[in-house]
Amino acid sequence: PVNRTPEMQEERLKLPILAEEQAIMEAVAEHPIVIVCGETGSGKTTQVPQFLYEAGYSSEDSIIGVTEPRRVAAVAMSQRVAKEMNLSQRVVSYQIRYEGNVTEETRIKFMTDGVLLKEIQKDFLLLKYKVVIIDEAHERSVYTDILLGLLSRIVALRTKRNMPLKLLIMSATLRVEDFTQNKRLFTTPPPVIKVESRQFPVTVHFNKRTPLDDYSGECFRKICKIHRMLPAGGILVFLTGQAEVHALCRRLRKAFPTRCSQPQEKEEEKDSAEGMRRFKKSRTRAKKAQAMALPQINLDNYSVLPAGEGDEDREAEMDDEEEALGSDLDLDLGDSEANEGEQPDASLPLHVLPLYSLLAPEKQAQVFKPPPEGTRLCVVATNVAETSLTIPGIKYVVDCGKVKKRYYDRVTGVSSFRVTWVSQASADQRAGRAGRTEPGHCYRLYSSAVFGDFEQFPPPEITRRPVEDLILQMKALNIEKVINFPFPTPPSVEALIAAEELLIALGALQAPRKNERMKKLQMSQLSSPITALGRTMSTFPVAPRYAKMLALSQQHGCLPYTIAIVAAMTVRELFEELDRPAASEEELAELKGRRARVAQMKRTWAGQGASLKLGDLMVLLGAVGACEYSGCSPQFCHANGLRYKAMLEIRRLRGQLTTAVNAVCPEAGLFLDPKMQPPTESQVTYLRQIMAAGLGDHLARRVQNEDLLDPKWKNAYKTPLLDDPVFIHPSSVLFRELPEFVVYQEIVETTKMYMKGVSIVEIQWIP
Ligand code: ADP
Ligand code: MG
Repeated sequence: PVNRTPEMQEERLKLPILAEEQAIMEAVAEHPIVIVCGETGSGKTTQVPQFLYEAGYSSEDSIIGVTEPRRVAAVAMSQRVAKEMNLSQRVVSYQIRYEGNVTEETRIKFMTDGVLLKEIQKDFLLLKYKVVIIDEAHERSVYTDILLGLLSRIVALRTKRNMPLKLLIMSATLRVEDFTQNKRLFTTPPPVIKVESRQFPVTVHFNKRTPLDDYSGECFRKICKIHRMLPAGGILVFLTGQAEVHALCRRLRKAFPTRCSQPQEKEEEKDSAEGMRRFKKSRTRAKKAQAMALPQINLDNYSVLPAGEGDEDREAEMDDEEEALGSDLDLDLGDSEANEGEQPDASLPLHVLPLYSLLAPEKQAQVFKPPPEGTRLCVVATNVAETSLTIPGIKYVVDCGKVKKRYYDRVTGVSSFRVTWVSQASADQRAGRAGRTEPGHCYRLYSSAVFGDFEQFPPPEITRRPVEDLILQMKALNIEKVINFPFPTPPSVEALIAAEELLIALGALQAPRKNERMKKLQMSQLSSPITALGRTMSTFPVAPRYAKMLALSQQHGCLPYTIAIVAAMTVRELFEELDRPAASEEELAELKGRRARVAQMKRTWAGQGASLKLGDLMVLLGAVGACEYSGCSPQFCHANGLRYKAMLEIRRLRGQLTTAVNAVCPEAGLFLDPKMQPPTESQVTYLRQIMAAGLGDHLARRVQNEDLLDPKWKNAYKTPLLDDPVFIHPSSVLFRELPEFVVYQEIVETTKMYMKGVSIVEIQWIP
């Protein structure tokens, strides 16, 4: 029995999903798999777990599991449900990467989808659970998609063994054909229960013109107008990233101060360091994690790897934009940018709150509280507020129309973050946030013509990216014939073949026997089992190429160096863009001076002789080492042309990788040494081999004299991948060296095809 407070009970009864409780519970009783669709805010996430709990779907040894694609939702929803049920967080708990409060008493467990995927690797039948709820399935995150494929089989197996598992899929949109019409996924289409939502009309206002890039400034002006001129009601603003959110909050608080805005701001600055603290904590924990010996790797022979279980703590990378690395696109709107003549107006206090994934849970919880008397609530949020969280009392939505997304380089598969237009479906979701409690207004900071050009729905993530990391995870689950896997939407066969080829080349998968192997892999051959090396690689949260480098680095004390280089390669663009046009003579002189300084530092970091052969990767290592040595200060970064944010991200990722390596191999006893000594000459030689082992297919050879007839081939390189010539990028320290063989991190196409992240390899013979 649940003892809710009368006030809570009253609040619940207002939710549209309460009317469907019986229908949902009947469907769950009769069918192994049920889909529930309902508008954001209708009560799916908070209520359905309670229905199941009250109907007895949890006991001491089999509980209710709920997955969320975002950490923010896993934490916030566990707190909310515990509160609604008047139960402690010992009973309604959460687990996200490296952090959680699950106990023996836990009956309802909220977790990220990656945590559940990891649990499947340990216990394929998920015997701990009586019900699994996959929430926010419409977001189509890669891990949600894979979980659905796996769960379709797990549910069947559990039925066969007479230990039925119930699966609920919850979606904020009605677009669920990929689940219901996919016979391979679910042979019997699961019933769909629609929750009628009580949505008030929202008037949508488009801008006449679309601002070119200063959408943060446009947001600011729009909010000022709303706040000055329109009746009471909360404002919800959509921006793309954490830095933007903070900048706009600062600016708004300055314009419309409340009595308590000062201390609040200071505390939030502290929150930005939250991520760092989490990783520090996780390091201690990883030490306790189960040991799996990382093999002593010999570059010529890695067949000696023992197979073992993965570590306890690792959770794959899957969270949303601001959890991830790479904030190149965060506009830094400093105070300097505030409009001149903007006077602080204390007569109109605005209660400004930020909301994004990395924000501490107590701070996130602030948005659910009513604002102080006499103030208006204004929440400045990233995409997390689109569907995951519902904020009460919102009457006005200001939508910049943009979202930060991960994009993948088709040539190299390296990912980056870009800010792009959202889909029409997302824009409508955002607008819908304004009509929960009364009729509302949505201000779109773009024209209706631009909206007309948005794509209708965002394509599922799995179709937009290379899949070698997924394939490696799936193979680690012993799913060998990936092509037969019941994906809700499968990746392309080309993407699957490319992934399998690369993983075989990296030694993560067994190569097909010689006589079976054609020149190129065929579809029917997509069934290579994982190797012991592959299992080790699958525990590192970076691209398989980089995981291979880490797996090889235990010997000769190379690990700290490889971790630094891999972190730097993953974050990318360490150096500031100094080739920009200058606005004035002084600026030009300053830029020139800084360019010369950066070039000089690159040469210093690359060194001479053996160390120069590691090329740009040596520069990365030197830059990371020197920056840490200086305490990673903004001053040091500015003076040396390094992007401060990139350096902070690298530090964070190094912490994470150090934790992952320690979990696999506790005797390595790695820690982040701020005074890391430079590698010795022989270590550099080892590092070059390690880098080449991960970048082996990114090999380029300088064209030979006989090919030089065509002038376009001057100083050019030939790669196996491309017909056209490629060149060493002018920013490379090897630009003038022109070595015969190089490996590169990536190719970028501007005026020519340029290799970046270049390092020298020596090859005796090439057929
Ligand atoms: P859905 O999952 O269908 O989007 P939720 O179950 O998340 O809906 O939310 C249902 C209602 O509960 C919303 O109207 C929201 O305002 C309210 N709610 C959710 N979390 C909190 C919270 N932490 N504090 C106060 N109200 C909340
Ligand atoms: Mg929800």
